[in-house]
Amino acid sequence: MSVLGVYGVPQAASLIYYGLHTMQHRGQEGCGIVSVTDDGRMLRHRGKGLVSEVFNAQKMEELAGSMAIGHVLYTGAASRSVDNIQPLFFHHGSGDFAVASNGNIVNAALLRDELESRGSLFHSMTDSELLAHLIKKESSEEPRINTLVAALKLLEGAFAFLIMTKNRIYACRDRYGLHPLSIGRLGDGYVVASETCAFDTMGAEFLCDVRPGEIVTIDHKGIRSTFYTEERHHCMCAMEYIYFARPDSDIEGCNVHAYRKESGRRLYQEAPADADIVIGVPDSSLSAAQGYSEASGLPCEMGLIKNKYVGRTFIQPSQSLREMGVKMKLSAVRSIVSGKRVVMVDDSIVRGTTSRRIVDLLRQAGATEVHVRIASPTMTHPCFYGVDTSTLDELMLANHSIEESCRLIGADSLAFLSYDATLRSACGRSEMCLACFNGHYPTPIYQSIEDVNK
Ligand code: AMP
Ligand code: SF4
Repeated sequence: MSVLGVYGVPQAASLIYYGLHTMQHRGQEGCGIVSVTDDGRMLRHRGKGLVSEVFNAQKMEELAGSMAIGHVLYTGAASRSVDNIQPLFFHHGSGDFAVASNGNIVNAALLRDELESRGSLFHSMTDSELLAHLIKKESSEEPRINTLVAALKLLEGAFAFLIMTKNRIYACRDRYGLHPLSIGRLGDGYVVASETCAFDTMGAEFLCDVRPGEIVTIDHKGIRSTFYTEERHHCMCAMEYIYFARPDSDIEGCNVHAYRKESGRRLYQEAPADADIVIGVPDSSLSAAQGYSEASGLPCEMGLIKNKYVGRTFIQPSQSLREMGVKMKLSAVRSIVSGKRVVMVDDSIVRGTTSRRIVDLLRQAGATEVHVRIASPTMTHPCFYGVDTSTLDELMLANHSIEESCRLIGADSLAFLSYDATLRSACGRSEMCLACFNGHYPTPIYQSIEDVNK
């Protein structure tokens, strides 16, 4: 998922449209934009599908105003209703407001039960609606900083919220800093985005990151900062660096391509392979493959070609669709791999579908050996923070040893990056969330790991 906001720039919604396109890799199920007209009315358009499918020139023209927020949705099959497509938009006597979120509140069920027992009615399964109810529980005024502080204090888990009233945008991040949120400058206005790659497309310049536990207020006075809590950590999601973010984004001062290249270099040092060529699985593993190649001296070849017009296979809701997606998505280049001992670098193994299929493709194209190197540790735990990495019973490495997994994917050898190298590849970071790899969740999780399967 990702959020995007623009304050103080004419035709803000059009800018959001281009920015959401740039962040389309973060979710393809649905998207929406809410704008505020110069006379204070809120307008919304949202729908299922890609940004290019949901919006057209006429819709963009209708979304007038110099302030807007937008969202792209990425979610599991359970919550695929239009009601969950954000930003959500609330009418209230004290003033309308809109909310968009990225992440997952882990105590949401408890808070919803409590609110429902006191008469609240929910329309969606989103954290945005939960926050809206909590804000209104605290005060009957339009969302203001004090009510926001009180509401955020009740939330546990991962969130990056944008809250837009008719004259300001609040940008908030959870106290653990699990997902990124950055602020850019655009002319006399501001842009807030889940990924900095959106700034380049929108012509904005990076200004700062929203820090863990921070609420940044953007309005006619400029930007101001408040922290909703004293307790703050720096547990950025490792999967943002490893897989999710675009290589041209910088996450808390570390470029994603640079991170992946460094992880590839370290992967070679930890798990060298006797081979002829290195091949990265397009697109997310090309940087790591380049790093592995540079460290090993083996040539990095384009042995796999991606069909650009097929979406990310993982995001397809069923296993059979995912398998078909992988087939349509990648082809091996026979003239490059035939007769070669290949190192195949991928960013992660989740269910093992991708690796198994690619090893097979490479062998069919004549590779004599396939050594699989994964630029992250073994994924053994589910994520509770909004990244749909799968359930415990589906995670290959939670259910099989590395040796068994190697056999299951049909590789000649299989190795993973260590926890230490995963952390150290991130420009000297000393903290990071690695919970899906090591089970050390930075927050209380409010349910048992096995429950995630239900
Ligand atoms: P799998 O085929 O289930 O083992 O998934 C691994 C592949 O999915 C890797 O090639 C990754 O690039 C990609 N991937 C990893 N994590 C995610 C995620 N949370 N959402 C979508 N794709 C992912
Ligand atoms: Fe990211 Fe894994 Fe932590 Fe989830 S558990 S936030 S995917 S590192």
